[in-house]
Amino acid sequence: MTRTNPDRESVSLDAILAQTRDLLAPVFAQIDWAEDEIDRAQRRHPGSRNAIYHAFLLLLSTHDRMQQEFVYRSHCRELLDRVATHRCTRPGTAAEVAIALAVASQAAPLSTTEFGLYSRMWTVAGFPHLDAISETAVHYEAIASTHINELEQRARAKLAVPTRVLGKVECDGRHHGEPILCEFTEPSTTPAMTTARNPTPQPAAAPTNHTPSPREGTHRSADALLCALRRNR
Ligand SMILES: [Zn+2]
Repeated sequence: MTRTNPDRESVSLDAILAQTRDLLAPVFAQIDWAEDEIDRAQRRHPGSRNAIYHAFLLLLSTHDRMQQEFVYRSHCRELLDRVATHRCTRPGTAAEVAIALAVASQAAPLSTTEFGLYSRMWTVAGFPHLDAISETAVHYEAIASTHINELEQRARAKLAVPTRVLGKVECDGRHHGEPILCEFTEPSTTPAMTTARNPTPQPAAAPTNHTPSPREGTHRSADALLCALRRNR
């Protein structure tokens, strides 16, 4: 009969848990940034707050460099603004184009048009201000804007993600666990909105009595994101 050492088992389990936590840390960081960008986009576009809420799965990172917070946030911001204004979410974002050009520059120097596009995308993406970028961007736009326009169009099309669409949204009438009037809810699944304390339905934009903690909202989102990651493997 084999005897096991409980202390050794405990140490191994602790090590596995620590390793898992470290592996998932970047994922959870991105989830927090995504949720924060969703909040910000809902404030920018209050009329589209429900569509924006359901756009969470469009915010999957498409490149390792999106582990950089300002890069990923810019990517989310552009996609959420497109959702709010009913524009296609498939084409590459400014962040994705900038990443592609940065990667390309490691293989060979960028042409004038390519560097002009890189400067433009850096600015459009709202990346941190760099004198070297903003000062030269004007120069490149002056001498090559037509070519930059054409290259931007090609680059965004080339970097398009065909599956990055909102598609059919199925809402159970709850956001972050709270009942809400959402245009994506099927009538048969609409939860009761009337309670003794809250006798009349509240409009979607109205604040609720319950303020979910950031982690409470994130847990729901984490499950959804992890499912999506599995589907996209
Ligand atoms: Zn909804």
